[in-house]
Amino acid sequence: RLGTFRIFVRVRPLLPAEAAAGEYAALDAPSQRRLVCHDARLARSGRRLAMIHHWYSADEVYSPSTDEEAVCDDILEPLLSRVLDGTGDGTALLYGQTGAGKTHTMSSLLHRVEERLDAAAAAQASAEPVTVEVTFFEVASKGCMDLLNAREKVSLRSDENDVVHACGATTSTVSSGGELRETLAQGLALRSTVETQANPISSRSHAICVLKFGHTGRTLRIVDLAGSERNYETHYEKTREFQRESAAINKSLMALKDCFRE
Ligand code: ADP
Ligand code: MG
Repeated sequence: RLGTFRIFVRVRPLLPAEAAAGEYAALDAPSQRRLVCHDARLARSGRRLAMIHHWYSADEVYSPSTDEEAVCDDILEPLLSRVLDGTGDGTALLYGQTGAGKTHTMSSLLHRVEERLDAAAAAQASAEPVTVEVTFFEVASKGCMDLLNAREKVSLRSDENDVVHACGATTSTVSSGGELRETLAQGLALRSTVETQANPISSRSHAICVLKFGHTGRTLRIVDLAGSERNYETHYEKTREFQRESAAINKSLMALKDCFRE
């Protein structure tokens, strides 16, 4: 099934604050491939609550009790095997509204890459070492910024084959899980420390982690996309500038078009 899109849906547990506020779980995963969304609506009279159940299908649906290991086994391992044995590139796109669990899942996927990098290094101890060139950058309406170098500006340029390159982005070469962890920690910290409710960076930008494996020349991309919510505009700002920014972020998705190449 590789070479095609696969869609995985992960339902996160209610957060303690949500449970404490008496919120209900709007999503259920009744079977491995089915998702049901409970859409509660109050009638105009304000007296009757109607519950509409929307059913969706996906390649795999994970309930809140599914652990990180199972998610990584299904999502990451097929991509990683391909990249490690040189049969192809792989991309994982994390999509969903703010608070859905994109960054949480991205961290788990990256953690698995770190573990596999250590395992690959151990297995090839006497052969050619496994090295990975890491770039990690953010695409927002203001342009593209380097997460491995204090958000310095990076230019996205297409070459004659229409392949987009992040020119000027720092490339760190790592050869162990620990080195990869250290390298990415800078960028992840940069995103989370600057983020506040008034300045929700991750809702408005894509974070793109590109891992190019030296021994195969193949690339794994893990992309934490900007929040998919539309109502963000009504929650925060309605200014023209903001609307322009939203349009620019969507346009910047074009920069990701290489992710869809096989
Ligand atoms: P997003 O990046 O989509 O905005 P986050 O990854 O920041 O969302 O998740 C929002 C909150 O939910 C965080 O506090 C995170 O720790 C928690 N969370 C997300 N997914 C899970 C999960 N599968 N299990 C437990 N907590 C989760
Ligand atoms: Mg996030």
